[in-house]
Amino acid sequence: MPCELCGREVKGCKLAIVDGAKLSVCPDCIKFAEGAPEEPPRPPAPVQRFLVQRTRQTQPKDIYKDMQQDLITDWNHKVEDARKRKGLTRQELGFRIGERTVTIAKIENGDLRPSDQVIAKLEKELSIKLLEPISTEKPATTPTTPGTTASYTLGDFIKK
Ligand SMILES: [Zn+2]
Repeated sequence: MPCELCGREVKGCKLAIVDGAKLSVCPDCIKFAEGAPEEPPRPPAPVQRFLVQRTRQTQPKDIYKDMQQDLITDWNHKVEDARKRKGLTRQELGFRIGERTVTIAKIENGDLRPSDQVIAKLEKELSIKLLEPISTEKPATTPTTPGTTASYTLGDFIKK
């Protein structure tokens, strides 16, 4: 007599109550029956727990990293030089890092500041460093007015 739950022809089927129905079930399926010894509760998946912990741990670190690094001043030239050194066209480079040719052109012309994601891809593909640590202890050119540099906004930067 086959197991009425999984349908397999298994010896040693026993009558058991499954979801209120009396079925003949195999030893494998007896665990679904009412009154069967419960399986020990499963411990939380260790992988998932690890991922949650990892996310929590790396997030503040990434923010810290972003705050401490900025694009080098001649990043667009560095991208162009490195690309030419590798013998790549803008189209080829764009293809490799999954960006459009026009995006590469804009980046090399300095018209477009690459996103952090694109920076990472460019650095990897061209074996260059586009980020430099921001020196927090830069010798102030105007020591009498220490608050001046902090008042510059992105808008000020673009206007210049
Ligand atoms: Zn079965």
